[in-house]
Amino acid sequence: MKTGIERVGTIMVVGAGVSGIQAALDAAKGGFKVYLVEKGPAIGGKMAQLDKTFPSNDCSMCILSPKFIECATDPNIDILTDAEVERVDGEAGDFQVTLVQRPRYVDAERCTGCGTCAEYCPVRVPDSYNENLATLKCIHLAFPQAVPAVSFVDPEHCLFLRRGICQICVPTCKNKAIDFHQRQKVHEVRVGSLILAPGYEAFSPQVQSQYGYGRFRNVVTSLEFERMLSASGPNRGELCRPSDGRHPKKIAWIQCVGSRDKSAGNPYCSSVCCMYAIKHVLLSKEHDPDLEAHVFHNDIRAYGKGFERYFERAKSTPGVRFTWSKVSVMGEDKETGAVRLRYRLNGTSVQDDTFDLVVLSIGLVSPETSRELAEKLSITVNEYGFCEGSPFSPIETSRPGIYHCGVFHAPMDIPDSVTMASGAASLASQLLSERRGTLVEKKEYPVERDVRGEPPRVGVFACDCGTNIVKTVDVKKVVDYSRGLMGVVHAEESTFSCSIDSVTHMAKVIREKGLNRVVVAACTPRTHEPVFQDALREAGLNPYLFEFANIREQCSLVHMGDKRSASDKAKDLIRMAVARAVLLEPLTQISYKVKHSALVIGGGLSGMVVALSLAEQGIPVHLVEKEKELGGTARRIHYTLERNDIQEYVQSLVSRVYKNLLIQVHTESRLLDFSGYVGNFRSRIAVGDRGVIKEIEHGVTIVATGTDEFKPAAYLYGQDPRVVTQLELEQEIYAGGELLKQCGTMVMIQCVGSRDEERPYCSRICCSQAVKNALRLKEQNPSMDIYVLYRDMRTYAFREDYYRQAAEKGVVFIRYEREDQPDVTAAEEEGRSVLRVTVTEPTLGGRLMINADRVALAVAALPAAENRPLSRLLKVPLNEDGFFMEAHMKLRPVDFATDGIFMCGTAHSPKFIDESIVQAQAAASRALTVLAQEELKAGGLVCSVSAKRCSGCGLCEQVCPYQAIALGDEGIAVVNQALCKGCGVCVSSCRSGALDLGGVSDMQTWSAIQALLG
Ligand SMILES: Cc1cc2nc3c(=O)[nH]c(=O)nc-3n(C[C@H](O)[C@H](O)[C@H](O)COP(=O)(O)OP(=O)(O)OC[C@H]3O[C@@H](n4cnc5c(N)ncnc54)[C@H](O)[C@@H]3O)c2cc1C
Repeated sequence: MKTGIERVGTIMVVGAGVSGIQAALDAAKGGFKVYLVEKGPAIGGKMAQLDKTFPSNDCSMCILSPKFIECATDPNIDILTDAEVERVDGEAGDFQVTLVQRPRYVDAERCTGCGTCAEYCPVRVPDSYNENLATLKCIHLAFPQAVPAVSFVDPEHCLFLRRGICQICVPTCKNKAIDFHQRQKVHEVRVGSLILAPGYEAFSPQVQSQYGYGRFRNVVTSLEFERMLSASGPNRGELCRPSDGRHPKKIAWIQCVGSRDKSAGNPYCSSVCCMYAIKHVLLSKEHDPDLEAHVFHNDIRAYGKGFERYFERAKSTPGVRFTWSKVSVMGEDKETGAVRLRYRLNGTSVQDDTFDLVVLSIGLVSPETSRELAEKLSITVNEYGFCEGSPFSPIETSRPGIYHCGVFHAPMDIPDSVTMASGAASLASQLLSERRGTLVEKKEYPVERDVRGEPPRVGVFACDCGTNIVKTVDVKKVVDYSRGLMGVVHAEESTFSCSIDSVTHMAKVIREKGLNRVVVAACTPRTHEPVFQDALREAGLNPYLFEFANIREQCSLVHMGDKRSASDKAKDLIRMAVARAVLLEPLTQISYKVKHSALVIGGGLSGMVVALSLAEQGIPVHLVEKEKELGGTARRIHYTLERNDIQEYVQSLVSRVYKNLLIQVHTESRLLDFSGYVGNFRSRIAVGDRGVIKEIEHGVTIVATGTDEFKPAAYLYGQDPRVVTQLELEQEIYAGGELLKQCGTMVMIQCVGSRDEERPYCSRICCSQAVKNALRLKEQNPSMDIYVLYRDMRTYAFREDYYRQAAEKGVVFIRYEREDQPDVTAAEEEGRSVLRVTVTEPTLGGRLMINADRVALAVAALPAAENRPLSRLLKVPLNEDGFFMEAHMKLRPVDFATDGIFMCGTAHSPKFIDESIVQAQAAASRALTVLAQEELKAGGLVCSVSAKRCSGCGLCEQVCPYQAIALGDEGIAVVNQALCKGCGVCVSSCRSGALDLGGVSDMQTWSAIQALLG
């Protein structure tokens, strides 16, 4: 890159799946203008097609649509759909991008997405959103919650565009939005940096005829199955098989279709299929508890956070079977539509079985269009068409200034995609940091209408949530009922209240009908309250004049199959919400200045990367490390699976950290005290061993405390020096140790301390670590016999290539069951002392004996010992395994629920070096969304004190978990609005009734109770 170039403060994100959306949001919140370019007609990518997500079973659209709205309403994000990048000239900091945008034949400025045109359109086309399992009209919205909520014409099928006839749709549009004069547009745009997130396409099983896909009616792909399960799917969430619409009673899943398969051209592992199949099993059982589910699989790759528990849950569900076997699709019963499968049981006896439905768990492939994109941009991709990056700079592409994320990097799940997207935003903004904030616009809202003194005019907006609510609750009746409630002047039903058109409509209704209180009867305030509060602000109302009635989680989802009672309960919930709403008063917030500095706890690899990322963007950082040296566990690792030198990388990081004047390194130091709130934290750290205490103020806090290595008491570890952990073995290999040179037979035992009762999680890295060390040993000593005793080899994504290489080089992999563990004893063999390892060989069924010279144990990665005390100090939670718990498993994998505190690296869960680097960069990006602000707001739903009533007893100060209330100089309690979380503990403890919680007054609670009791 030339120096002295004037950088452009705009970032272009190409591809608007969940990765692209996250990258765009982070970049915009971090102070940049963003173009979000999507080749399809709407944003959302594949995640918008999924039913629920593993392992949390969140409804995909429910968690995605608030992000859609954030993108659509952010003045700094320009969404360009139907658009593709044609060429990119220039260099990092100043690119000229040529974009081509296809016509929609509908004017986006005029279309309201009302759908009248579709009612009249005479042509039906396959519905690609529903994987062509249904049809819809030739002019249509991409899907109900689409952003932009603008219809488009399918040019392949439109009678006018193909044959010059029809145009029926034109006069039906009262806004005159349909415009067949539209032509392809070319845009020239200057941007400082690009982020590529073009995602994946699903493998087409049609090319592999052995699965019977396309021939047998009841063989479907996993993506089709997602749509079949979905409430917005072709059967509105009813699980029906394609041949006759009957409910399947027996379903089979076939794993690794188009993955781990050289003949399909995809020898790599698709990383997500095992988990989504497990999800499918559990969701199918929700649809029909009596259903039989049978999964035919290879290694089950449940390697992510919470995955192993999810797998165990599925295994222990009655009627669910997992069989490790290859399987052949033998044929279809023409009469019943049942599909015949043949498989081997325990590798020996052949079994036949029939199923009502067969689901093919298809892999993730890089589409041809992504290869073309890479070619146009002169970006290198790997042999499979993915843009792998390098282990120490995974997000960078081969062209400076262009970054990438999501499945374009490698097959990965949603949280990993989201994390990488934030990391990409951080790198892009790092490049352009001098232009941060120079082009951004602030979102402007109309002046708030003063509603005090007005009689209540409540609007009730009830949501069907596709079918999630309406299947169980009679929403029409509930809406009719709401109209009769005191204070209610408007009530209406909508299919998806959270879609952008519904939210815009809500703001319009509030204005037109002069509403001054709003009740939304829908899902959870956790994800959706900000969406609806924004609609109130758009309509000029104070956002706190809003009340939620959760008729989904608290009603339809828990009373399935009992429509009458569920509808009655929904009425009760709405009646109570209205009773509370009429007493709502406008609340205000205060502004405060942000401290532009960061505290990073943990000076391992992740901590150093995040510190550098921030410091190189001008943020002063305090880096606190408990040991004498920086580097953490990485100091003990020498090479990656891909053979890159880790020590060289760690040393370069350490040197960059020490040379950076904005980073203050505190080694042999610990956090003593922590207080404050986002943008304004205060910490005390004990520095060095001389009792020096340092006080620091910082706007954000990042936890990067890493993991510890488990030291087992089994397999003679600690008793016989020939038994070591994989990490110890790696150090020996690197040092060229004597013991290894004499080793003729090495046995590696996997899952030592992981995936057991005490630690029911997978340590993720151990399988690849064993493969890495086995390959190194084979290189040093090709005649060495190496046995890997494993439960499932979890070499996901392109790590699979190394697993295959190891097998090709003669490493023997033997599978053992959790209930039948290997055994290691010291023994004599022909006068030689050996380690005798016995294990049950699954194909032979008998016990195999191996006389080994050395044994290496793949031990569990433990949560750092620091985590527990730190979680207490920071008041942030740990999960049941002792790792830090994120705000939302899927969409906020780097944030804590407490604003301004973030995590990265193995403090979150075990992960590889490249994954830790990505998450550290993501943490920097998330931190910058706070640090890019000059001021933040606090208050609203917080406590207030009535000075007249306060007796100064101080009980509130004792019980407040956030130190948000204290006795002031006059002996009266004073609330710090920025610290108060509105939990209400102080209110219930106050004996004088001096405390009130905004939006939840005693009067409101009484009123709600009275409303319930009628
Ligand atoms: C059956 C199935 C079930 C799954 N279930 C789960 C689950 O439960 N939980 C989970 O975590 N993961 C699941 N996954 C994986 C999940 O879908 C992905 O992790 C995630 O969607 C990846 O998002 P992405 O943004 O990287 O890619 P995508 O969702 O593919 O988005 C890419 C976007 O880029 C656009 N695009 C492509 N090329 C261009 C271009 N040249 N110019 C402009 N735009 C372009 C595309 O149109 C698309 O909108 C599942 C996958 C499958 C197949």
